[in-house]
Amino acid sequence: MSDSLLDNVRIVLVNTSDCRNIGSAARAMKTMGLSQLILVDPIEMPNGQAQALAAGATDVLANAKVVATLEEAINECGLVVGTSARSRTLPWPMLEPRGCGEKLIEEASEYPVALVFGRESSGLTNEELQLCHFHVQIPANPEYSSLNLAMAVQTLSYEVRTSYLLKEEQKHQSKAAAQTDEEAFPVVEETERFYQHFENALKGTGFIVPSHPGLVMTKLRRLFNRARPDVKELKMMRGILASVERASANKDNDNN
Ligand code: SAH
Repeated sequence: MSDSLLDNVRIVLVNTSDCRNIGSAARAMKTMGLSQLILVDPIEMPNGQAQALAAGATDVLANAKVVATLEEAINECGLVVGTSARSRTLPWPMLEPRGCGEKLIEEASEYPVALVFGRESSGLTNEELQLCHFHVQIPANPEYSSLNLAMAVQTLSYEVRTSYLLKEEQKHQSKAAAQTDEEAFPVVEETERFYQHFENALKGTGFIVPSHPGLVMTKLRRLFNRARPDVKELKMMRGILASVERASANKDNDNN
């Protein structure tokens, strides 16, 4: 299934030395609905081992774009986030993984965005990190903070997906709310006709005795006011009342 928001999120792997990590990263991406993999000057091109680790995600691997420089991978991107396992001497705007997912999804509706991952041995260089708008660090064990490359891809892709799903849900909710607002609730005139109908029907069945009506209608008003039936529900109630009236009319006829 193609989704333009997720299709606008690029996963960029710089100078990866072990192509099995590329295969595992492809798998991690696909499980989270991501498909745009860019390999910057990989030391080992994906081979059978990479395919084996990609498992069902060999399509992501096959569609991976190979470029020579990081600039080529991110040139068209409006937002670039670099990943780092450790704090660098150079202070840079930082994002938490959750905030990183939110920001990427927020801006993916406008242009391609990228998450950049470094070398297994030494991560990203300072020059590469300076090409990024923000840095993100997975808050791992400070004494052992370096995740396997593909696992870092998995963790951050999950955050991207979480934000994507949240945004989709919000979209559906506001759509549903807009639809509900349009014609959900009956106007007073319709509700009053319903109460009138109800009262007549109850008089017909003998539940309300006209000389001693009591508080039945007031209590019913309170009940329906609390339930706040929408137009369709009110229509159904009127249908029910009509059927009761028909049934008692038939009974009267039989008795005559
Ligand atoms: N030894 C390297 C770590 C390389 S791990 C170093 O000290 O920088 C390979 C890549 O996985 C990193 O470049 C980064 O892209 C990602 N990664 C690993 N652990 C991470 C973490 N805790 N937070 C963010 N990215 C991480």
